Amino acid sequence: MANMTMTRPDVTHWLGRTFSGAVHLPGDEGYDAHRRPLAPTLDPRPALVAEATNIADVHAAVVAARDYDVPFAVQATGHGTHVPCDDGLLLKTTSMNTVQVDPHRQVAHVGPGAVWGDVLAAASAYGLAPLSGSSNSVGVTGFTLGGGMGWLGRLYGLAADSVLSAEVVTAEGRLVRADAYENADLFWALRGGGGSFGVVTSLEFRLYPVTEVYGGISYFAPERADETLAAYGDWARGAPDAMSTAIVLTTVDGRRVLGIKAMYAGGADEAERLLRPLRAAAGPALVDGYRSMRYADAAMGGTPARYLDFFPDLPDAVIKRLVDTAGAVDGAGANVEVRHWGGALARPGADGGPAGRNTAEFSVIVDAPTPHVVNGLRPYGIGGAFLNFLSDTSRTAQAYTASDYARLRTVKRAYDPENVFGVGHSILPAA
Ligand SMILES: Cc1cc2nc3c(=O)[nH]c(=O)nc-3n(C[C@H](O)[C@H](O)[C@H](O)COP(=O)(O)OP(=O)(O)OC[C@H]3O[C@@H](n4cnc5c(N)ncnc54)[C@H](O)[C@@H]3O)c2cc1C
Repeated sequence: MANMTMTRPDVTHWLGRTFSGAVHLPGDEGYDAHRRPLAPTLDPRPALVAEATNIADVHAAVVAARDYDVPFAVQATGHGTHVPCDDGLLLKTTSMNTVQVDPHRQVAHVGPGAVWGDVLAAASAYGLAPLSGSSNSVGVTGFTLGGGMGWLGRLYGLAADSVLSAEVVTAEGRLVRADAYENADLFWALRGGGGSFGVVTSLEFRLYPVTEVYGGISYFAPERADETLAAYGDWARGAPDAMSTAIVLTTVDGRRVLGIKAMYAGGADEAERLLRPLRAAAGPALVDGYRSMRYADAAMGGTPARYLDFFPDLPDAVIKRLVDTAGAVDGAGANVEVRHWGGALARPGADGGPAGRNTAEFSVIVDAPTPHVVNGLRPYGIGGAFLNFLSDTSRTAQAYTASDYARLRTVKRAYDPENVFGVGHSILPAA
């Protein structure tokens, strides 16, 4: 339905008189502010933006999009929106941001608009932590549905695999509970399958007893990048699960640097002892950024991915290509991030979801790869992906093993056969 123009009476007809949130149409004052995602390259033009304030609003929006056969997308923060919902219905959940923490059961129960900062604040009051990621402004629901890889991931696994239950408005317009006993197939798919299966109206997930951590980012001159990455390949394999690290080659204040990001869920002395060999490989620090801190204050930004793959190890040929590309792309230098996975991430339980299964010991992200770099790395990578780190929606299937992807498509056929939830990282219903 191209270039659809909606009027207020149309909206009332569509969503019903009981839709209680604000609705923004093209030309309205709030339209521009509410239609934009984070990616500056996207300029979505939805026919309307509807702000849900409760489950009935979500239900009304899903049913309207389905019955009137228009594109539909849901957005909490816009951090993970990669495809514009042009001429469609964009449902915002931002104001449904309730957070309840049960300190005895060590679980959090959140609305679809909650962001990690909200949960960190609520949980830390009880000495508990969620499996949050590198930015407190990211939405809990989008993050978790896409897998959710955080700095406690090597210790406790992906956020998706700590979900206990979800409530979902399905394409049929039913509000269902999904957990290990009810709608177990949907529960499995939600834990990594992204937003393809319905609109999640609440999530319940485990919290962990983490308060103080030691970590941060220290910067070094980039000249020893080859030796440091080679040492990293060996050092990381012996690191305990409580130690999470990444090496970045980037620019800070106009200067090329090598950064070592680290977070240790434990004491400072032990962390420093563990990090010593890696630091020795990198040489004297330009900036020593490690310190003890509250987990709630420990978010560390990531590198946007244009190239993403996973590597079982870091052979010299991979290191050379990464260091070369960090040195010169169009005279500047790409940002490169090599991150250590493994630990609990490599030991998902049999009852876990589909997230993170097509990964390996190290992820490699390059923000400005040349075809030469991509081709050079290809023979060494596994051709894997992780939904939350992928902006290229043509690669969605690579975030899963072949059998999990086939199973996701079967679940999709059961819950959304007409692909109402098809904008973005979309999983098509099985034929
Ligand atoms: C600065 C930054 C740091 C990041 N750090 C990490 C990190 O450390 N680890 C990690 O794993 N990821 C990380 N990410 C990726 C992030 O988790 C994904 O982009 C995620 O999709 C963001 O979710 P959102 O709700 O904030 O974004 P939105 O753009 O609002 O939503 C993204 C998608 O999530 C789905 N979705 C959101 N809400 C619902 C709902 N209620 N029901 C159904 N589907 C829904 C939809 O498919 C939607 O298109 C980061 C992203 C950014 C921008």
